[in-house]
Amino acid sequence: RDPSVKKPGWLRQRAPQGEKYTRLHESLAELKLNTVCVEAQCPNIGECWNGGGGAGGEGDGIATATIMLLGDTCTRGCRFCAVKTSRNPAPPDPMEPENTARAIASWGVDYIVLTSVDRDDLPDGGSGHFAQTVKAMKNLKAEILVECLTSDFRGDLEAVSKLAHSGLDVFAHNIETVKRLQRIVRDPRAGYEQSLSVLKHAKVSKEGMITKSSIMLGLGESDEEIKEAMADLRAIGVDILTLGQYLQPTPLHLTVKEYVTPEKFDFWKEYGESIGFRYVASGPLVRSSYRAGELFVQNLVR
Ligand code: SF4
Ligand code: SF4
Repeated sequence: RDPSVKKPGWLRQRAPQGEKYTRLHESLAELKLNTVCVEAQCPNIGECWNGGGGAGGEGDGIATATIMLLGDTCTRGCRFCAVKTSRNPAPPDPMEPENTARAIASWGVDYIVLTSVDRDDLPDGGSGHFAQTVKAMKNLKAEILVECLTSDFRGDLEAVSKLAHSGLDVFAHNIETVKRLQRIVRDPRAGYEQSLSVLKHAKVSKEGMITKSSIMLGLGESDEEIKEAMADLRAIGVDILTLGQYLQPTPLHLTVKEYVTPEKFDFWKEYGESIGFRYVASGPLVRSSYRAGELFVQNLVR
């Protein structure tokens, strides 16, 4: 972190509690499921797992959790991300789609976000593996809502289209930051236009497809640049947007340029919804999958 920029109190984490959280936590150990929620010590775990409006859980009970597929080693190296990288990660486990689906189905979560590292070493970027997991998931538990938060598959639109037809409920891909900062923040193999083309293709490849993206704030972007990114996402029909504060994971990563206030995050929520996003989740601790199930059901189903 830039020593001149002090971490404010509103970023303090709350200890999770709540009935559903406790139940999910207890059953997790037996299932050998690695959730991003636990592994990354996500501050939202109480709210997400309870499906609730607070860490104590008073929401609609639509519990959300995030699972990482395709291993823990990424072929890229973005300057905001602490995931380990290698040119040749271990090959995917062919049993992972079926085993993961089985574990999730018996776990009791209502909305599952499947995400992964980038696998540029695989011919299809891992898209087939995602699709198999979605299919296995829906076979075992048709009512579960599935969001895939994917890489850009190097812009491979056929991979995008196949995944869009796998039976998923939400196709998510993050542009991460505004146009000007792409080269500074993301791996050079990623890019603004490529990410927009993935989201656009997901939207048009299947009728009624819900798409979603996310932007981190506090990396030095201006208000005008945020508005431009939001307009670009709306222009290709993106339905859902999340905005959160960038936090530096280690001293080797990009420094925080600004801690955006909770009031400013509220402004962006209002602004985003005024330009047509079906909902915007915006707050200092908001992450891409923040209360995703609960907000999806509240805003898109009812
Ligand atoms: Fe899990 Fe995502 Fe919620 Fe964090 S924001 S607790 S990673 S579902
Ligand atoms: Fe991290 Fe994703 Fe970038 Fe890989 S591609 S370094 S997992 S943000």
